Amino acid sequence: MNYRTLGRTGLQVGEIGLGTEHVVREDQGMVNNVAAMAIEAGMNYFDFFWPQRDFRTKMGTALKGKRNDILLAGHLGVMEKNGQYSKTRDVATCEDDFHDFLRRFDTDHVDIMMLHNVDEMADLEEVLYGKFMELAARLKGEGKARYLGFSSHEPLIAQRAAQSGLVDVIMFSMNPAFDALGNMFPDNVEQESQKRMHELTRTDSQSVLAQRKDFYAVCEQEDIGLVAMKPFAGGWLLSTRKLKHPPTSTQCLEFLLDQKVVSTVVPGAKNTDELADVLRYFEASAQQRDYSTILAMNDWDLGKSCMYCNHCLPCPVQINIGETIRLLDQGLQKLTGEVKDAYRKLEVKAGECISCGACVKRCPFGIDPMQRMYDAKALFRM
Ligand code: SF4
Ligand code: SF4
Repeated sequence: MNYRTLGRTGLQVGEIGLGTEHVVREDQGMVNNVAAMAIEAGMNYFDFFWPQRDFRTKMGTALKGKRNDILLAGHLGVMEKNGQYSKTRDVATCEDDFHDFLRRFDTDHVDIMMLHNVDEMADLEEVLYGKFMELAARLKGEGKARYLGFSSHEPLIAQRAAQSGLVDVIMFSMNPAFDALGNMFPDNVEQESQKRMHELTRTDSQSVLAQRKDFYAVCEQEDIGLVAMKPFAGGWLLSTRKLKHPPTSTQCLEFLLDQKVVSTVVPGAKNTDELADVLRYFEASAQQRDYSTILAMNDWDLGKSCMYCNHCLPCPVQINIGETIRLLDQGLQKLTGEVKDAYRKLEVKAGECISCGACVKRCPFGIDPMQRMYDAKALFRM
């Protein structure tokens, strides 16, 4: 493992860290194995955003006795609501949830306290300049967080955070599709995104790709530690479902690590096989790392690709939207008995959707989850 400096925090972080969200469905044994394998490989940056308390307990158990081997990033601004992920800015709830996080990880502090998932200007104001920030600053003052971070998917919002002087680390979605080619989004989403950017800046249409580059330049100027999330676009980049010749995980990682502004990349392995695939990067030859061919590809079309991140929750009828869409995508490719069984085991099926539309506004990737629920109901007939 090579180590890089996490911006002005001065912390030394492995070039590849661990995003923990996809191991959420696994049992204690697999969570233990993923954590141990990551630490053994020299990964020392662990990001943990899930509010589900039983999953925190599992990961806390997996890290027992290893707390000093890792830098722990925990998120402020999430809560568990009826067993589901939910974003919140309610200060009392956030404080309660954060203390639950510390208890379940059996620690008295996090290394980075991420101000969680800020993609709207009004939310940025609330998070950085209101009672939410007062809480974050107080918890930091009490020694419960060493540094403040900020997570976002929107370059203009992230740039404002980088310029605020209030946060030292930013977690941002990055990968070759988003950053080299800028054609991840279908036309309508691009227009929607441009419209949103226009509302934010009151300037004309600067491309989202240029905005991303501007954001990275600000990170360099301000010495922000940049944490790259979604390096494989929720797995789509590695799949032949959308790309005829998908890149390898090694090529995606090399692309990101070639951006010197990136301190660490945090792929979310869901089991030891996926983690082993990530770790192949370290044994790869220069030829295997070479990503020039993927930049020349002309079939990048990840439009309407769900990242299965569940940022669109909570759902009032308790649908696990990310998992439902994941099974829908698998089923659309091949409707096997295994996929049908996995769908049958979902506690709440897409057919229960009451079309409230709450999820549609929350998706940072321009997906219409409600429509995907209709599609899932049609495919699985329940
Ligand atoms: S619909 Fe959007 S927010 Fe929901 S899981 Fe998919 S990408 Fe994430
Ligand atoms: S539209 Fe359907 S899936 Fe989305 S939050 Fe409402 S009930 Fe849940």
